[in-house]
Amino acid sequence: PSSDMTKILKNLGVEASNPGAAIGSKWLPTKGEVITSFSPVDGKAIAEVRLADADAYEKVVRAAQEAFLEWRLVPAPQRGEIVRQIGLELRKHKDDLGTLVSYEMGKSLQEGLGEVQEMIDICDFAVGLSRQLYGLTMHSERPLHRMYEQWHPLGIVGIISAFNFPVAVWAWNSALAWVCGDVCIWKPSEKVPLSAIACQKIVQGIFEKNGVHPGVCGLIVGDAEIGKKMANDTRVPLVSATGSTRMGKAVGEAVGRRLGKSILELGGNNAIIITENADLNIAIPGAVFGAVGTAGQRCTSTRRLIIHESIYEDLKQRLQSAYGQLRIGSPLDQNNHVGPLIDKDAVQMYESALTKIAAEGGKAVIAGEVLSGPGYESGCYVKPAIYEVKNDYEIVCHETFAPILYLIKYSTLEEAIAMQNAVPQGLSSAIMTTNMRESELFLSQAGSDCGIANVNIGTSGAEIGGAFGGEKETGGGRESGSDAWKAYMRRQTNTINYSTQLPLAQGIKFEL
Ligand code: NAD
Repeated sequence: PSSDMTKILKNLGVEASNPGAAIGSKWLPTKGEVITSFSPVDGKAIAEVRLADADAYEKVVRAAQEAFLEWRLVPAPQRGEIVRQIGLELRKHKDDLGTLVSYEMGKSLQEGLGEVQEMIDICDFAVGLSRQLYGLTMHSERPLHRMYEQWHPLGIVGIISAFNFPVAVWAWNSALAWVCGDVCIWKPSEKVPLSAIACQKIVQGIFEKNGVHPGVCGLIVGDAEIGKKMANDTRVPLVSATGSTRMGKAVGEAVGRRLGKSILELGGNNAIIITENADLNIAIPGAVFGAVGTAGQRCTSTRRLIIHESIYEDLKQRLQSAYGQLRIGSPLDQNNHVGPLIDKDAVQMYESALTKIAAEGGKAVIAGEVLSGPGYESGCYVKPAIYEVKNDYEIVCHETFAPILYLIKYSTLEEAIAMQNAVPQGLSSAIMTTNMRESELFLSQAGSDCGIANVNIGTSGAEIGGAFGGEKETGGGRESGSDAWKAYMRRQTNTINYSTQLPLAQGIKFEL
């Protein structure tokens, strides 16, 4: 890494060689494989991590079990106070952590910083929430009885995260889980291990300073095998997994087999419907940002544009000229719009998608290609592409995690909505229209079937205040705002008799 990056790594406590497992501030020696994290920005090695092994996994889980016995007794607002301090610490490290995320994952510096801002925001949200873990009270049908419900912590929350949000997804889960009284074990993506190590180093001191059991915050950097261990572990009552649908099916099945709980946040295949009443000054930048931002590697990236036939040709030309202006290069250079894909495997997936599109009859508006030459030495840079396709092509129904945008023509809005819904995934969706009837139909129960449905906003990105997640093969889980916290707790219904009788419910008589 450059001298600037070396300084940033030092500020964050990331060494040249790092253990891949920690219990709070206690870093565990492991005998796992050593992996090197390479930056897709310039192809350079950043640092090494020795992966967690089965022994380290056991230690982290046992520490978490112990920690839970104490942490669940800390009053929720006091847990919130500690999360508040974590938010303050993240503010101090925002620039360094955001830059590392950008360098290790390849997203733009603005997006790297944005990710850390999201972590700060969810901490603030969780602080407020720590005083609002409300249950309901009900009227009992029996005289002199009281009935209410309360929410108790679950225990260990296992967090499996994807490469494309190296740090924010962990914060979404852990900030809420902590105020709910749970303890967390994080298995980050093995493609971005250093960002995870940096996070652990940022928060470890806060728990220590507050005298909290270090097992509240555990880290195990490992591959899918460690993830599978967690999914099968009955000591982990909740597994929150973010990643591909393939991974989610495996995790959901393993957790389901033991009747554990899971929150699944999986792939998307997000479309924007652009009607003849759209304001194109909003629709075009919304579509282009959604399709090429993070090089098309967001779960909410725009993959399909479903365009009314009357504006189709005009829009196609405008998109072509917008794509002509895109600057592709280092995401750390703020003049560039599009950075690299995460690694060469991702480049191969992009290339094989291009082959399939051609084989199924797709027509290039802007043909994709892998870029080479100065600035592209890492081999991870690709050209954002646009293809005209049919919605039912197999490749179109599949999430390709790269900047490939599909154009599809429609004539009636009902037909457009049917196409938008006719894919296996159901994460994010949008309509661009200034017509109230169109937008209301799109948002109605006969409209979009996705977890997120926007009007005059693209599909990409979301605020932390709402519940985030999607339907069908996206997994059905919800994280972040609204009442997503309920998934991190168990509900208990309590009925208390303060009479001198024992009346039974439903008027049942039982006399001795
Ligand atoms: P991935 O599925 O390859 O890996 C995700 C994580 O799961 C990694 O930590 C990996 O080690 C682990 N894993 C893989 N197989 C596993 C198994 N069988 N058991 C347990 N753990 C396993 O995904 P990725 O390439 O890192 O991320 C891209 C995918 O994530 C895309 O499909 C994207 O849409 C999705 N994603 C979804 C959301 C969302 O909120 N819906 C957010 C971000 C990313």
